[in-house]
Amino acid sequence: MFHRIDQSPDPLSLSISFSRLKEIALLLKQQGWLLSIDKAIKNLCNNRTKRQINYVLTFDDGYSDNMKLLFLAKEDIPSVIYITTNRLGHIVLWPYRLINAIFHATENFLDLTSVGLNHYQLIDNQQKQDTVIQINHWLKQFEPKRIEELIDMIEEITKPNSPIHEDRMLTLEEINLLNEAGVAIGAHTRNHVILTKVDIEKQREEIEGCYRDLKKILKKNSAFHFAYPNGTSDDFNDEIVSMVKQAGFQSAVTTIYGINKPGDDLFTLKRIAVDDNSFLTPWSTFSKCRFLSETSGIMQLLLVWIKG
Ligand SMILES: [Zn+2]
Repeated sequence: MFHRIDQSPDPLSLSISFSRLKEIALLLKQQGWLLSIDKAIKNLCNNRTKRQINYVLTFDDGYSDNMKLLFLAKEDIPSVIYITTNRLGHIVLWPYRLINAIFHATENFLDLTSVGLNHYQLIDNQQKQDTVIQINHWLKQFEPKRIEELIDMIEEITKPNSPIHEDRMLTLEEINLLNEAGVAIGAHTRNHVILTKVDIEKQREEIEGCYRDLKKILKKNSAFHFAYPNGTSDDFNDEIVSMVKQAGFQSAVTTIYGINKPGDDLFTLKRIAVDDNSFLTPWSTFSKCRFLSETSGIMQLLLVWIKG
């Protein structure tokens, strides 16, 4: 599971540099393990498929830096981007507005005691990073409109001295370029709403509306797949899973850590997050051995074998 393809430091650990991404993609391609989401779902459905290792490269949210996937598509490397259809071409999602507000604050402190938070020191990058992580976690409890209001308030206090407006989500044209080049486009709701935080009407609008949006905006027809925003076990429930199925999606991914095997529920698929700091050697270089042993399921097979 990936989010952004960017080499600048990311306090939320959601970015990977293009060179690292390409290294991983080529490694998997050479083994013959890299599949499109459609093919991987077919394999998971087929219990008789002999046990084989399959990987799918998934990207959440639809940041404009995902245009770099065109270079991978040209080398026959499949991937899927789960997009938020009401955000096409808009500025990046609120966590990156928060990062900008904190990292480019004009003052070196931030007082949020008026909303029940703390007084934060913003002198060095570590303090800024800790502040972003704390506030990001706190904001997720609120419904989307309240989050936007609170981010507006934080921006008003910190008066960031660098504009965020150039940092955008993919546009409609970019989505179609990617899709025509072979990148699958999936759904991630209309507004990146954490579905358990809103009422049933809003859930329906975000899920079914996003399905209808994909049908309307994509020139190329394909099966549609879904990713739950935030995606932890607190962020969806049985009713939401049923709604995703009924909307017409073929599968849904979570952010729960793990590997999927044939027969697993196609609407609560697990994933493994990878960023520039994942699977490193003690010398901070990328370890192919660690990556493959921890993500391929080989370790689990070995443990089952050892335990007899
Ligand atoms: Zn997301």
